[in-house]
Amino acid sequence: MSLPPPEIRGELLLHEPMARHTSLKVGGPADIFAIPEDSDDLQSLVRQLSSAGLPWMVVGKGYNLLVKDGGIRGAVISLERFARIEARGAGRIMAEAGAENLDVVRFGQRHGLGGIGFISGIPGTIGGAARMNAGAYGEGILERAVCLTLLRGSGIRELCISEVDYGYRRLSLEPGDILLAVLLQLVECDPALTEEEISKDLELRRSKHNVGFPSAGSFFKNPPGQVAWKLIDAAGMRGAQIGGAQVSLRHSNFLVNSGGATAADFLQLAEKVKSAVLLNSGTSLEEEVRVVGED
Ligand SMILES: Cc1cc2nc3c(=O)[nH]c(=O)nc-3n(C[C@H](O)[C@H](O)[C@H](O)COP(=O)(O)OP(=O)(O)OC[C@H]3O[C@@H](n4cnc5c(N)ncnc54)[C@H](O)[C@@H]3O)c2cc1C
Repeated sequence: MSLPPPEIRGELLLHEPMARHTSLKVGGPADIFAIPEDSDDLQSLVRQLSSAGLPWMVVGKGYNLLVKDGGIRGAVISLERFARIEARGAGRIMAEAGAENLDVVRFGQRHGLGGIGFISGIPGTIGGAARMNAGAYGEGILERAVCLTLLRGSGIRELCISEVDYGYRRLSLEPGDILLAVLLQLVECDPALTEEEISKDLELRRSKHNVGFPSAGSFFKNPPGQVAWKLIDAAGMRGAQIGGAQVSLRHSNFLVNSGGATAADFLQLAEKVKSAVLLNSGTSLEEEVRVVGED
């Protein structure tokens, strides 16, 4: 990149290895890794990137992200300094995109509000959760959303959830959209009940999701009416390995970094798993993990 880097009040890193920002611990460098200070700083950054013709994307905590080995051209923006959570009355809370899921659940609990306990153990930010419509036990976070605040082009927009197209682990946005905050509708709930829900979820995850190696959780979506890990097991792929990437022996929909994996290892392993499942059961698996960057 020969242009001078953008100027921001927050923090700006050049050639930042994305392996440091993803739970799979792989990924080449982002040309620019920017941590804006606040909304004005973010808008100024986006204006500068836009006039320099540089693309951008947002990263939450990188728990659902596979960055290719060639890294990311343009800018990766982290909203880690946007983490305010506020009560808005009538059971509603506003969470900025960088707030962590468990902190949002705990905030509701302190206000006698619940109904989002299912995100307690999903690692990551509420921005990442909304972008993925993350969920568990048949629920998705966008079912609890009233509206989304986003930076679209040069302006901040509020979209009612009825104006948004979303579904199982997906939300349609325009390229370059940056989710700034989510307004959630919670329900009155005894804090002790929320505590029980949190403990149960965290315990379940400690036993089921503790696969002993870095992962991004479920690598593939469950096809309609089917369960991805069962299809992968039936195709004999549990434990399959390419380089340092392995289908976990403990949970066959988790692809793990068993040591020294590259993004290319993960991509090849994912193709191998998809082909085996297609051959064995006739079902096409689709990645839940977002694959970004260049080879
Ligand atoms: C052990 C483990 C268990 C998991 N269990 C679950 C589970 O039960 N259910 C589930 O749904 N997921 C699960 N996941 C996956 C992951 O935790 C979720 O997808 C989570 O919501 C990702 O949040 P994040 O902040 O890390 O987002 P990232 O991984 O950083 O980003 C995910 C996507 O959202 C985009 N994005 C992030 N923030 C913004 C923003 N502010 N504006 C616009 N785009 C944005 C990114 O560009 C990327 O495309 C699990 C992962 C792990 C490692």
